[in-house]
Amino acid sequence: MFARSVVVGQGYCARMQTSSDDAGAVPVEPTPAAQLTGRCLCGSVTYELTGAPFATVVCHCDHCQRQSGGAFSVNLLALGEQLDIAGELQTYEETDEQGDTVYVRRRFCGSCGSPIVSELVQAGGTVAVKAGSLDDRSTVLPTVEVWCVDRQPWVSLPGMAVSLERESM
Ligand SMILES: [Zn+2]
Ligand SMILES: [Zn+2]
Repeated sequence: MFARSVVVGQGYCARMQTSSDDAGAVPVEPTPAAQLTGRCLCGSVTYELTGAPFATVVCHCDHCQRQSGGAFSVNLLALGEQLDIAGELQTYEETDEQGDTVYVRRRFCGSCGSPIVSELVQAGGTVAVKAGSLDDRSTVLPTVEVWCVDRQPWVSLPGMAVSLERESM
């Protein structure tokens, strides 16, 4: 999977704020982990993501283009246990080219169709939360892009520390 060391210290970690009430005090607890919230377009699915994602990844793959209706998806990679979902999701299972191994479960709201999360089945419990569903998207800062082999010719993104030709998402 993705090299975590490349992205540690960037994105959410660097943007977490400390309370001004404690200015000058010696911190005895680590800074509380960020908690992010999100929802689908119609609001029947909501979620909380606890703790910092370990990477923020743009995926240019053909399937993400089709699912999103856009040129790429933006994904917060985290462990499934960090994500608490309320509401009904439907699931589309993607299989490999032979059709016998599920490698992504794309989960979306059955009412409005918003993609919420992809479960990366063969990546040890890693999930890819669709960043466009966050309530506050202003802190999203992708630093990795994958499936550049499918990248549209007009797309050129700034700030990419890692660009991979392929890699499942
Ligand atoms: Zn919905
Ligand atoms: Zn993709």
